[in-house]
Amino acid sequence: MKKLIIGNWKMFPNSALEAKKLFCVIKKTAGKKKNIQTVICPPSLFIKDLASQATGSRCVVGAQNLFWEKEGPFTGEISAEMLKSIKVKYVIVGHSERRLMGETSEDIAKKVVASLRAGLNTVLCIGELERDSSGNFTKFLREEIQVALKFLNRPMFTRLIIAYEPIWAIGKKGGGAAEPEDVLEVSIFIRKVIADMFDKKTAMSVPILYGGSVDHKNTQVFFEKGEIQGLLVGRASLDPKKFEKIISIAEDI
Ligand code: PEP
Repeated sequence: MKKLIIGNWKMFPNSALEAKKLFCVIKKTAGKKKNIQTVICPPSLFIKDLASQATGSRCVVGAQNLFWEKEGPFTGEISAEMLKSIKVKYVIVGHSERRLMGETSEDIAKKVVASLRAGLNTVLCIGELERDSSGNFTKFLREEIQVALKFLNRPMFTRLIIAYEPIWAIGKKGGGAAEPEDVLEVSIFIRKVIADMFDKKTAMSVPILYGGSVDHKNTQVFFEKGEIQGLLVGRASLDPKKFEKIISIAEDI
């Protein structure tokens, strides 16, 4: 299976022209990597333009969010069908930055099922705000998973991806990346929760990504010791040199 490297551009860059330039540099490198599926998630305004620049399937464009209804009076929202109509194949759901803006677990559950029903590869983000040494944060993670997946049936799992993104590890103000051994422990835990809800086969089929201060210096160790199937990269995906290194390192593992 190809390793999945997803770049979340958040609300950057400032203009369509900058976005195009950045995407063109990334797609050149990403297009050469046969073992990697690269997905760039720009601000929604730039999706269509960048998707039309994408040549081949090794570097595609995804969305950072969607809404669960098909259409209607929902100002500012974008549906799964709309994303599909411009050939988007991946969407991030439940990013912690959106949860902090008020998105609830119930909202996320509706988004996950709408996205999967529409046939989009759906990257569900989960992650604790804090880690306590007695392991209570796993209770929080269990609940996030259980609520987000409550409307799913087994066949829907073919397009589900889970990104473990501890909130404390995300962004400039975060405390730095998690330890790869801890990421491995959490990915085992995620599979256990899914196995309890569905079955072991379903749990084992879900690709698990890590996100939170990923850069070219820790890429290798996350694949080797964290045993993840991919990475969700924020800041470093806006730096073409760093992002190219991440993709190249992942390709060679
Ligand atoms: C993210 O936005 O999903 C993220 C992981 O950010 P960063 O890599 O900048 O910590």
